[in-house]
Amino acid sequence: MPTVITHSIVGLIAGKIMPVKNLPRRFWVLSLILPVLPDADIISFYIGLPYENFWAHRGFFHSIPFAFILALTVMFLFFRREKYFSRRWNSLLIYFFVLTASHGLFDALTNGGLGIALFSPFENSRYFFPFRPIEVSPIGVKAFFSLWGIRVILSEMLWFWLPGIILLLSMRVFRRRY
Ligand SMILES: [Zn+2]
Repeated sequence: MPTVITHSIVGLIAGKIMPVKNLPRRFWVLSLILPVLPDADIISFYIGLPYENFWAHRGFFHSIPFAFILALTVMFLFFRREKYFSRRWNSLLIYFFVLTASHGLFDALTNGGLGIALFSPFENSRYFFPFRPIEVSPIGVKAFFSLWGIRVILSEMLWFWLPGIILLLSMRVFRRRY
């Protein structure tokens, strides 16, 4: 995975770009949590599931269908007052879906671990993109404070933070002009 920090930064940047007005505080909290949530499946290592198991790390919980189920659940739990299928409701649903799905897609750009079951439960193969520039993040905190950890942060800065900052700045300029 890219690190927890980077997945959350993706959420914050995405929230900033979202063209929906008057977003409540829970929108921001969810923007931080949802892109990180799929990695809760690392619990599977501690309960002894093999990596390639359906429920294991980078399995079903990292898939695109799971992202959709989670986005729908979030809408029903936290945005009950929004009118169903209104433009705002649809935008929020798509936003939460893309945000959660981004996790598995970004993991598919990492250079280690097992691939991502992007289409689970319909098709359970594990996938990577052919281009994998992101240093895979170690599991566990100890390994993180090492040369490996530094390499991870540097590669994420280059591939996520930098494009994110450029995107935000250019949007600011764009909004001021038009
Ligand atoms: Zn992950």
